[in-house]
Amino acid sequence: MRETTIAVPGLGFMRIFSALTGLLLLVGCATDRSASSLHRYEFSSPHMGTLFTITLYAPDDATAKTAVTAAFARVAELDAIMSDYQADSELMRLCDQPPGTPVPISADLFQALQVSQEFARLSGGAFDVTVGPFVRLWRFSRKRKILPTPAEMETARAAVGWRKLRLDPNARTATLLVPNMRLDLGGIGKGYAADQALTVLRKHGLSRALVAASGDIAIGDPPPGERGWKIAIAGLDSTPNAILHNAGVSTSGDTEQFVEISGVRYSHIVDPTTGLGLTNHLQDTVIAPNATTSDGLDTTVNVLGRDRGLKLVDSLPHTAALILTEEKGVKRSFASKGFGRLAKAQRNRD
Ligand code: ADP
Ligand code: MG
Repeated sequence: MRETTIAVPGLGFMRIFSALTGLLLLVGCATDRSASSLHRYEFSSPHMGTLFTITLYAPDDATAKTAVTAAFARVAELDAIMSDYQADSELMRLCDQPPGTPVPISADLFQALQVSQEFARLSGGAFDVTVGPFVRLWRFSRKRKILPTPAEMETARAAVGWRKLRLDPNARTATLLVPNMRLDLGGIGKGYAADQALTVLRKHGLSRALVAASGDIAIGDPPPGERGWKIAIAGLDSTPNAILHNAGVSTSGDTEQFVEISGVRYSHIVDPTTGLGLTNHLQDTVIAPNATTSDGLDTTVNVLGRDRGLKLVDSLPHTAALILTEEKGVKRSFASKGFGRLAKAQRNRD
C-alpha cells in the first residue's frame, strides 16, 4: 500500500491510497446536478504504478462508462509501450537492439521521446531520458542502503547522455548510439498518458473532464456552470488554489521516494551530471498548457534547482511554477513571475 499526497481538484490535499494489486478498480459514482443535464462521475484504475482517477461530467452512466473504459484502455496501452518495469515493453525492446541501429518505433513512443529531447535541449541536459542506468543504480542503492561503487558509476555514465539518443522524425526511428543504454520515461510518461486519456474522453464527447495520475493532472473544459477546476497547489498555507481548465499541473519532489544513506537523503530524481539522486529536497508544481509539458517540466525544474528552474519556466509561454524549499527546518515558497498571472488569467477567462 502506498500513500501519495498530490495536488488535486477541490480544496486541500487528497490522500490517495493505491494498492498495487494490478486489479482493475472501476468504481463509478454519480452526483445529480439538478441545474444541468450532466452528472458528475469519478472512476479510478491502477496503472503505471499509481492510481489514475478520472472525474468527468456526462449525460448518463452508459456514456460515462464507455468513455472511461476506452480512456483507461489507452493508458494501459501506453504503459505497455513506455514501462521500464515490463521487460517486453516497446521501450525496453528498443533498448535491447544493437547500438547504432535505427529502430522504427510507434508514434506514441516517438512523441514521448521527442518531447523529452526537447526538455533536454532546453535544460542543457538536466532532463535526460537516457538516465536509466543511473536510476537503476539508485534503485539498488535504495535496496542495499549503500551508494554505488565508483566502478558501477563509471559503467553507468558511459551509457548516459541525451545526445547519445538520435531521433529521425522522417523515418520515425530511434537510434541508441552506445552499448547498454536504458531509456527511462518515468519523468514524463504519466503526464503524457493523462493527456491521451483526456483526448479519448473528448473523442467520446466528454470534454468536461479531469485525469489525475498521482501528481500529474490533465485538465479539460470546466465543470458545467463553473470557470474551471479547483486545484490545490502543493504549497504553504497561504498559497491560493488555482482554478484551471485546458491545462496540465504536475508536482514533483522527494517527499515520497528517497533513500537515506549516511545521513544524506537522495531523491529518486537523478542529477545527470553527478549520477546521484538530488539532495536539494525541492518540491515544485508546474502549470502548463498540457500535462506532458507540466510533467516534463516538474522533473526538469527539480534538477535545475530554484533559480535556473524559475528562469526556464518564465521563458516558456503559458507556464508557471511554484517551488517549495526546506532548509534547516524552514520552509519557503518561490513563485515564477507568471504564477499569479496565469492562475488569475485562467480565473478571468470565459
Ligand atoms: P514522480 O515519479 O514523483 O511522479 P517525476 O515526474 O519527477 O515524478 O519523475 C521522476 C522519475 O523520472 C524518476 O523515477 C525516474 O524514472 C525519472 N528521472 C529521474 N531523473 C531524471 C532526469 N534527470 N531526467 C529525466 N527523468 C528522470
Ligand atoms: Mg515529471
